[in-house]
Amino acid sequence: MITHPNYGRIDGPIVMIGFGSIGRGTLPLIERHFDYDAKKMVVIEPDHGAHTFLSQRGIRHIETAITRENYREVLGGIFEQGKGFCVNLSVDTSSLDLMKFCREMGVLYIDTVVEPWEGFYFETESNAERTNYALRQKVRDEKARNPGGTTAVSCCGANPGMVSWFVKEALLTLARDTGQTAEMPKGREGWARLMQSLGVKGVHIAERDTQKSTRPKQIGTFVNTWSVEGFIAEGFQPAELGWGTHETWRPEDAHGFDQGCQAAIWIGRPGAITRVHSWCPTPGPQYGFLVTHNEAISIADYYTVGEGDMPEYRPTCHYAYHPCDDAVLSLHETFGSGIIQEKHHILDENEITEGIDELGVLLYGHEKNALWYGSRLSIEETRDLAPFQNATGLQVSSAVLAGMVWALENPQAGIVETDEMDHARCLEVQRPYLGPVEAHYTDWTPLTNRWSQFEEDIDGDEPWSFRNVLAT
Ligand code: NAD
Repeated sequence: MITHPNYGRIDGPIVMIGFGSIGRGTLPLIERHFDYDAKKMVVIEPDHGAHTFLSQRGIRHIETAITRENYREVLGGIFEQGKGFCVNLSVDTSSLDLMKFCREMGVLYIDTVVEPWEGFYFETESNAERTNYALRQKVRDEKARNPGGTTAVSCCGANPGMVSWFVKEALLTLARDTGQTAEMPKGREGWARLMQSLGVKGVHIAERDTQKSTRPKQIGTFVNTWSVEGFIAEGFQPAELGWGTHETWRPEDAHGFDQGCQAAIWIGRPGAITRVHSWCPTPGPQYGFLVTHNEAISIADYYTVGEGDMPEYRPTCHYAYHPCDDAVLSLHETFGSGIIQEKHHILDENEITEGIDELGVLLYGHEKNALWYGSRLSIEETRDLAPFQNATGLQVSSAVLAGMVWALENPQAGIVETDEMDHARCLEVQRPYLGPVEAHYTDWTPLTNRWSQFEEDIDGDEPWSFRNVLAT
């Protein structure tokens, strides 16, 4: 019989907000790895469809949507002062307001994205305000205003989340392989200096999802392997990236920020139609979408030596996402028509017949050119490891598990991002769920295999310039 490590007791209520693809996958991991009072487990979820699933398992279901108006009353009616854990896995609820309330109550908190209240993504007129930079900065400002206190883990999914732990493992791997005897750096400055001394110019969060079912995507349906709502919302935000000190060129419609860490820029077009050249082990060179993500900014910020918009060193950092083929077709349809499909479908573990989610970090521009480090989790392995989720889901839910363990072991750490957590401990918890975790070097650069028949606006002197990464 397989025995699973027990990571301790959670006193008081465990409240999960939202019960979509990630909630369903996270619940069995909580059941498996923690002691808690099952009578105090609550799922807050407006969708009636979840009811049977939860009631069959004896889990209390509050069938309501958390809103700006009701969150204090609903959560205040469940939590006891100083006890419990709030696991926020919903869309359309403000991460900032919920984490502030939980910290007031002395309740541990975790989420996987800085989510705003409903309406924000499509009703905010200013593109600068719709950026993840702006969303993240509000959480960083709250951390600065109220340092320490009850732990609230911000953005602890696969990405944002686990990939920040991979960046550190990748740096240690690169240091070892280039003959630098690096001791594990102790704090943020040490990690930033290590990245700088290794000559890393930038980081792609490089992902290829090859999961598929035998049923072809139907016109008018958006298909994905995780939240369709979440993906469309972030796809419609402006493309955004951490802006590195090796860059000498900017896209014409790029904008910086006057406030905050100034580690990023945004571009005046939606991320879901902004393509970049990138690389993953299975396909080799590929197009990815430069969809905005919190980690693009947090990683660039964390690894900055100096500060402001002219630091001594900073890596470029962005997502380069090739979602599953059905999601690529779905995006093509959404942006081709200008209409968001009414039908949404998340491919689940029962209908996916093959594929892997290959999710890692590509550290580039150094002595060994580029190193991809990440998880290559297949649907088959996922089915053996944990119930109710596909490979994408398990990479996320196991990061939530790791973040919960860390919070329980560090209950007074204040508001933290995954870059600021003990990456070794978190990966120790998560790794059994990640399938093969591998390091791959490549001699590919964004200038490899370019078609010479057409003239392109490239930088021939610096292969890793964003000018070459951005596809025209
Ligand atoms: P999903 O679309 O499958 O489910 C969303 C859930 O939120 C549903 O259960 C829905 O009913 C619920 N919900 C909607 N409005 C609500 C409200 N006002 N109050 C309470 N619940 C509400 O999404 P998912 O795939 O489970 O993803 C959940 C969240 O995790 C999303 O915010 C998504 O962006 C995020 N996510 C993060 C990562 C990562 O790696 N960091 C990866 C996948 C998903």
